[in-house]
Amino acid sequence: AHFFQSGWTGVNECTFIAVKPDGVQRKMVGEIVRRFEKKGFKLVGLKLVQASEDLLRDHYWSLRSKPFFSKLITYMSSGPVVAMVWRGLDVVKTARKMLGETNPADSLPGTIRGNYCVEMGRNVIHGSDSVESAQKEISLWFHQSELNRWEDCGSQWIYN
Ligand code: UDP
Repeated sequence: AHFFQSGWTGVNECTFIAVKPDGVQRKMVGEIVRRFEKKGFKLVGLKLVQASEDLLRDHYWSLRSKPFFSKLITYMSSGPVVAMVWRGLDVVKTARKMLGETNPADSLPGTIRGNYCVEMGRNVIHGSDSVESAQKEISLWFHQSELNRWEDCGSQWIYN
């Protein structure tokens, strides 16, 4: 069975998370992976990539008419990003809560953006905003051979 054809609902929901170039430069990769692992989500894909401007324009297509769009593409292509796919129950919505708000100034302490950044144009992490966006983004950033099926020996201690 192909990963992209499996039902991405319930405990199989997936989201796309990326540590942005500033997060990589600021050595936040370990901290961010740690938070998702310890929460109980399952890592199914991870790679360090220099994103092309074409890929980033596709990724942020819905923002193409915003005044900050070209700066956003420059920011996101300024260095490698760590692209990840995480899986678990309600992972899309929960990951957004773990990230905080788009503007770090509005993000609560304890969230990633609330704890580790100051400005919107350097907000260290991306997370899909809906299940639909997640499916689009995962297929944009990952080939299906890069998404791993593996049995999590701890899952009975995460789900009842
Ligand atoms: N962004 C920005 N200025 C703005 C709004 C957004 O620089 O006024 C950047 C910011 O890095 C944000 C990204 O554009 O994370 C994508 O914006 P979106 O509204 O999709 O926010 P997100 O889903 O990342 O919270």
